[in-house]
Amino acid sequence: MKITWLAKIPLTMFERLTIRSASELLDAGKTTSVDLTKYYLDRIKKYDADIGAFLLVAEEYALQKAGEADERIKSGKKRGMLDGIPFAVKDVILTEGIETTAASKILQGYIPPYSATVIEKLEEAGAVMLGKLNCDEFAMGSSTENSAYQITKNPWDKTRVPGGSSGGSAAALSADFCVFALGTDTGGSIRQPASMCSITGLKPSYGRVSRYGAIPYGSSLDQIGPMGKSAEDIGIVLEAIAGVDELDSTTVGDISDFRFQISDLNSNQRNLQSTIYNLQSLKIGLPKEYFATGLDPEVKKIVLDAVEEYRKLGAQIVEVSLPHTEYAIPAYYLIVMGEVSSNLARYDGIKYGASAIKISNLKSQISNLAEVYIKTRSQYLGDEAKRKIILGTFELSAGYYDAYYKKAQSARALIKNDFDDIFEQVDLLMTPVSPFPAFKIGEKKDDPLSMYLADIYTISANLAGICGMSIPAGFTAKGLPVGLQVLGPRFGEEKLLSAGIAFQNATDWHTKYPEIK
Ligand code: GLN
Repeated sequence: MKITWLAKIPLTMFERLTIRSASELLDAGKTTSVDLTKYYLDRIKKYDADIGAFLLVAEEYALQKAGEADERIKSGKKRGMLDGIPFAVKDVILTEGIETTAASKILQGYIPPYSATVIEKLEEAGAVMLGKLNCDEFAMGSSTENSAYQITKNPWDKTRVPGGSSGGSAAALSADFCVFALGTDTGGSIRQPASMCSITGLKPSYGRVSRYGAIPYGSSLDQIGPMGKSAEDIGIVLEAIAGVDELDSTTVGDISDFRFQISDLNSNQRNLQSTIYNLQSLKIGLPKEYFATGLDPEVKKIVLDAVEEYRKLGAQIVEVSLPHTEYAIPAYYLIVMGEVSSNLARYDGIKYGASAIKISNLKSQISNLAEVYIKTRSQYLGDEAKRKIILGTFELSAGYYDAYYKKAQSARALIKNDFDDIFEQVDLLMTPVSPFPAFKIGEKKDDPLSMYLADIYTISANLAGICGMSIPAGFTAKGLPVGLQVLGPRFGEEKLLSAGIAFQNATDWHTKYPEIK
């Protein structure tokens, strides 16, 4: 595996652009949004047949939006840093008029009549949507292999998975097919692929970002979040998509109590970052349960080296304990499966997408309504979705509810209390994202339990509703990326991102990228 350590010397003006650098090129009149968009469309055409990150490329749509951005920029009406910036979207997020499948055959051909709030907000800011990204079916999985359509390869090693379920988003960024992307995270689906592809990804606190228009997986756990090439970019996108939305009653805390202000800093002010992002007073906890057996020694070393970097930057490091961590996996899977059995009931062969039954000649095909459901769901849902629906329906059924779902909710409360207690003592927690780097395509596909264990360090954050981020922290001897997970208290995104920016000012792991051929 060959790694190209070229990061700081872009080969072309467009290579590895961050939001800030792309926006500065647009401001200076050195390029146009149309040219930027064409650059990414060309790269996608050239390389994505092999990588498999995109399910749909909205070429005409993107060029039209880019043209509109250029008009605004030319007439001095640029809307902000995101105006004219090309991005791509995980295919569980609805885009009006553009097919959205959740990587499932059951939604093949589904054209949403409206866009998710996050899409509306980004388009309002002028960002240019390039297309829809592959993921595990309904975001269920950790490798993107559960997509009903295609395998996505990890650009760092094409024999390996990009992680999941937002694997298309992470692969697209590390292959430089867009400036930033959106993912969703129910149990780690932004952070784990970010770690495996060496990009930066944030799961916002539950309630920070509207879920309206995100196809639900586990509604009490799901969050949409930004994935990008730097922590600063993540902050810029978060600022655009966060805030109260009357269409999602779980959103709390308006944008006004979250002034991240990164986008307000000009280049001179950016030199002040060392003072703005002062780590001297930061107290970081290392939860001992996250460094126990089962953690790949190379991953452990890389994570601890990154923590050491924080110590050098002035932070204080202490060991802490989250004693109920061992309940996280069973609690998460019971809760998520229960929610799946209810959330996926809507795919009945009648309301949305595919149906096993043709409307003409109904009587010759079925004898009762249940048959429509059974035939459609058997034919069009994948194995993992079926597995979760069946287990979830079982655990919610009379006589089992108390023993499984209710108990899982009690465990969830204990896990949440652990975090509440610990954030009284420390500002942030640092842990591995995944116990191992990207694994081989096919390696875990037929072993759901070992796939579930891949989430061991990420799911607690979803259960507790706190925020978490993966930032590139190094590479194994085989050249496989490893991320550092930084966890912060609920609505502690500012602290989290500041710590990410400080790390990325001091290191250059986030600027390394794979050679794509
Ligand atoms: N791998 C986990 C699951 O299958 C998490 C997925 C996610 O965060 N969407 O549930």
